[in-house]
Amino acid sequence: MFKSKYLNDVYASLSQRYADQPEFLQAVEEFVTSMDVLVEKDPRIQKDAIIERIVEPERIIKFRVSWVDDKGQVQVNRAMRVQFNSAIGPYKGGIRYDQSVNESIMKFLAFEQTFKNSLTGLPMGGAKGGSDFDPYGKSDNEIMRFCQNYILELYRHIGPRMDVPAGDLGVGAREIGFMYGMYKRIENEFSGTFTSKGIESGGSLGRAEATGYGLCYFVEEMLKTYKNETFKDKRVIISGAGKVGSMAAQKVIELGGKVVGMSDISGVIRDENGIDLDLIIKLSKTNSCVMDKYRDYHPEATYSPTTKDIWKIPCDIALPCATQNEIYLDSAKELVSKGCFLVAEGANMPTTIEATKYFQENHILFGPGKAANAGGVAVSGLEMTQNAMFMNWTFEEVDAKLHVIMENIFKKCYDAACQYTGRPEDLVIGANIAGFLKVYHAMLQQGV
Ligand code: GLU
Repeated sequence: MFKSKYLNDVYASLSQRYADQPEFLQAVEEFVTSMDVLVEKDPRIQKDAIIERIVEPERIIKFRVSWVDDKGQVQVNRAMRVQFNSAIGPYKGGIRYDQSVNESIMKFLAFEQTFKNSLTGLPMGGAKGGSDFDPYGKSDNEIMRFCQNYILELYRHIGPRMDVPAGDLGVGAREIGFMYGMYKRIENEFSGTFTSKGIESGGSLGRAEATGYGLCYFVEEMLKTYKNETFKDKRVIISGAGKVGSMAAQKVIELGGKVVGMSDISGVIRDENGIDLDLIIKLSKTNSCVMDKYRDYHPEATYSPTTKDIWKIPCDIALPCATQNEIYLDSAKELVSKGCFLVAEGANMPTTIEATKYFQENHILFGPGKAANAGGVAVSGLEMTQNAMFMNWTFEEVDAKLHVIMENIFKKCYDAACQYTGRPEDLVIGANIAGFLKVYHAMLQQGV
């Protein structure tokens, strides 16, 4: 599968050991493919067993969360935190509350996070946590009790210099508030151990916008560098209408693009007049799904209940911002046949390996998630800085820093792609190599 025997051996034993973890193996396979060119040039990688070490989490904490629902019934959920790599900074990564959460998904996310955080240039290691708790349909009090009980165990494993969690699917400022409140009560200190906090609790302005805006800044660099173009008049489709998708849509519109399709788990809306984002944001305040209600306000739009139909809408640019594995090979073919020329991942690993290969073979510009969606965690890093300094930057200051960070991430990926492959557009290899090198050098410095 890989050119190097060393990589084949490492991957074979990993895939045997974790045969029941398909998402994790998928993320590792995508990454290890990019290592061939480095392993050839640098014997220390094999000698110091760097790949064997980098694909094993430093620590996984697994625990039970018991809590009492509004009816007085005791509920039990499973939870974990994967502390993947701390070579370049304290563990850092979001918390996901979703029924699908399991060790495979947590490990793939924490693994990706390690290289994503490295690309930001900020001192943050990689982690991810979560629970199979499903927040939808739960009352505020139930959410609060769950979050508090979650922290009653997790608090001993986190801290401002140890591990700094944030939000992810199912975890927003409300959940972070409840968790931080409990943590603070136990530790008796205002240390800012979480990011994506509410502004009044020490959160950063611009954090809510960061992943979506950052994605667009990254795409702007791709458009400028490879095509000498901008978002102006481009037809854009965006899957997911949560924090990432809606903020990406806002920035696309601001930069002159036209969002002609959006989706959430209730379905897909195609609106040739351009999506009414204000309506989506308004409806989202009271509903977790909004696409099935859009036509009540815009009957001229078309609706499909099948989420993958979004990839059938003709577009120039596709921004998958929902969740892992949402673009399979059939959807990739659909996108290419309808004229899409750029795909950039706002979610973590939304494109399967086959679909990614298809895009690359067909010369579609492809921005991988660990680079393109790093804006969220980058501003989390800026939130840590502000907390440590006991001061706050303005929205404009944060946004300007985010812009520079995204430009730099693009440049690092582009430069690595040029240097190691001679293919300037191969940002997949570029991101993997650029993200890896900092972690690798830190690991060498720190010994075994
Ligand atoms: N969950 C986000 C991500 O996937 C943000 C993590 C953070 O801010 O720590 O990058």
